[in-house]
Amino acid sequence: MPVNPLADGGSLNEEVLEKYIRAGRIAAKVRDEIGRVVREGMPLIEICETAESMIREMGGSPAFPCNISVNEVAAHYTSPPNDKRVVPEGALVKIDVGVHVNGYIADTATTVCFNPEYEGMVHAAEKALEAAIKIMHPGIMVSRVSSEIQTIIERHGFKPISNLSGHEVGRYMIHAGKSIPNVSHFSIERMRPGSVYAIEPFVTLREAVGRVEDSPEKYIFRLTKLKASLKSVEARNLLKIIEGNFRTLPFAERWLRNLYKEDDSYKRGLLELLSSKCLMAYPVFIEASRRPVAQAEHTIYVGSKEIIVLT
Ligand code: MN
Ligand code: MN
Repeated sequence: MPVNPLADGGSLNEEVLEKYIRAGRIAAKVRDEIGRVVREGMPLIEICETAESMIREMGGSPAFPCNISVNEVAAHYTSPPNDKRVVPEGALVKIDVGVHVNGYIADTATTVCFNPEYEGMVHAAEKALEAAIKIMHPGIMVSRVSSEIQTIIERHGFKPISNLSGHEVGRYMIHAGKSIPNVSHFSIERMRPGSVYAIEPFVTLREAVGRVEDSPEKYIFRLTKLKASLKSVEARNLLKIIEGNFRTLPFAERWLRNLYKEDDSYKRGLLELLSSKCLMAYPVFIEASRRPVAQAEHTIYVGSKEIIVLT
């Protein structure tokens, strides 16, 4: 099954492209609106829930839980149920939102900076993203895009995170096909016409290690396997609910709790689904030397004749 249904000549058919464009518009609006209202002291859970309900009100669906990653946390943090955390003073806050329309996904992020010292990092991430998009065309080597990102980040006096990458996007798949690393590397991959890519430079301080590592915290999950001899009724029921609501897209524990009307009875099923490997959990990513991280991200359609920044 092709990741993206193609029409003639390496372009997405119009109907599919139109859905990507709708998803992109919603994602961009939510990113910008949330970026405007975030303040120091604001509860993270309020930011996540506002972003997710805005997406639904605008006629899209969240493609993954709203990620709010603070300071040295680079990605994959979303509020757990009853999260008490707030935006700390002087924080660097990454807001990463995903929207899908019929499974066609737009993924975008911005960084809000409450510390003037770190503004240069945000600027470097934005400039690297801009430069990468500028050189994108059908057939371009992925390694060329990666080198451009690294060059721009380093020219600004910072360091790219070497083990976080942009990615091709597919229907109901956030990471489909190719990766687009943020550092120079050897690869013979090229960007195909008729495909969609999320480009996301992550920037940290020059003296940082420049890699992320897994934290023990995990608040985002995804269905990986449907069939398994599950012991409990709770696990079997929960699996059906997850498949029906999220398919193969990532979801938050918060969302399960909502579906169970704020009752904790989903928890036993969740544990069994994790231990039987029906679900995978995304660990929160932290910069290895605990230095702050900035991010910028757009989703881009590469057509045979045109490049469209969807977000
Ligand atoms: Mn993202
Ligand atoms: Mn992404």
